[in-house]
Amino acid sequence: MSEKRFPFSKEVIERLADTLPTPFHLYDEAAILENARYIKKAFAWAPGFKNYFAVKACPNPTILDLLHKEGFGTDCSSLPELILSEKSGIAGEEVMFTSNDTPAEEFKEAKRLGAIINLDDISHIDFLEKAAGIPELICFRYNPGDARSGNVIIGEPKEAKYGITRDQILDAYRMAKEKGAKRFGLHTMVASNELNPEYFIETGRMLFELAVKIKEELGIKLEFVNLGGGIGIPYRLDQEPVDLVRVSEGIKGWYDKMIVPAGLDPLKIVMECGRVVTGPYGYLITRVRHIAKKYKTYVGLDASMANLMRPAIYGAYHHITVLGKENEPPAMVCDVTGSLCENNDKFAIDRNLPEIEVGDLIAIHDAGAHGYAMGFNYNGKLRSAEVLIKDPETVELIRRAETMDDLFATLRFPGAPVKM
Ligand SMILES: *Cc1c(COP(=O)(O)O)cnc(C)c1O
Repeated sequence: MSEKRFPFSKEVIERLADTLPTPFHLYDEAAILENARYIKKAFAWAPGFKNYFAVKACPNPTILDLLHKEGFGTDCSSLPELILSEKSGIAGEEVMFTSNDTPAEEFKEAKRLGAIINLDDISHIDFLEKAAGIPELICFRYNPGDARSGNVIIGEPKEAKYGITRDQILDAYRMAKEKGAKRFGLHTMVASNELNPEYFIETGRMLFELAVKIKEELGIKLEFVNLGGGIGIPYRLDQEPVDLVRVSEGIKGWYDKMIVPAGLDPLKIVMECGRVVTGPYGYLITRVRHIAKKYKTYVGLDASMANLMRPAIYGAYHHITVLGKENEPPAMVCDVTGSLCENNDKFAIDRNLPEIEVGDLIAIHDAGAHGYAMGFNYNGKLRSAEVLIKDPETVELIRRAETMDDLFATLRFPGAPVKM
């Protein structure tokens, strides 16, 4: 059973909402830093441990910079993510470029940045060679196929579009070596939002086994293995956070049993987690606009699925706190909705909440990763602001809200000159 308490008082958020119209995304700096340190400490034994924060989870330069100061790099999968990383002061081998279906310009840019290029397919070796040349350091994304089972979000590995197969993986290293690569990494990512620690230990074991095989068959000593992202967070109250100390100890067990005897020590262990780094420490702050009593009771918010679409697309549970009513008993069963003309625009269905009134402030939990980032403009909804709260007195605006001018900036209106 995990507890979910919103860490700031209603007064603090009301004061903030005086100057910043709701909805907005709020990130808790102290909690993010504490968690970043916990992750590093859990893997302190691992040679060269680094988490390359998946930019897509929370693409904000202030957050990237905060994590970079804690020793995190970035994991990028597109040109804008690479540029965002560079503009946030993170370049070179602190950037992992794990992309798929990649255009040539993006490989060029990744190479210019000196990022670690992680190839998704064996045919991309030639493609990369033509586009940008083979870099000294190269990594391959491995897909174990039916040797592993996946989970709901990412699906069964053999049905997934990602990665190089078991039959191809040795050839990929052989080809890259022939083409001049000198340093090598190995990556996999087979699950998303997974809460079972044993799953990640098994991923470590699987990569170590392949690392040993690569050494035996090709004489290549890998520089790092990348366990990918996908560590889940307890969105629901009946879920537990992943015990990263347990994950780390389990991986160390296999490291000592497999990597050390094979003469592969030191082998760097890296990850590219996003969700578990910032997810629980971000909130969508929104205000109750209407309470509509129809066949059911609907609490209408000023946020919509354009601000946080996980409940609508995955049916995901996101805990809801009514500020100032934290200790009140549940008093109504309601659907909590946004204002999109889409009936799945709901943050909660049949949720038990304290007696809600129009004007109440609401915090929607676990919105710190894959929250703002998945936002969109359907129905002319404007993306909201993002703020970083350092302490109740110090709040920084780290992204302003969109305006209608932003929304219209790409349009041509009748009478305006035609440009091609
Ligand atoms: C999405 C993604 C991640 C981050 O996943 P989280 O669930 O946020 O940890 C890491 N690597 C790759 C290749 C991804 O696609």
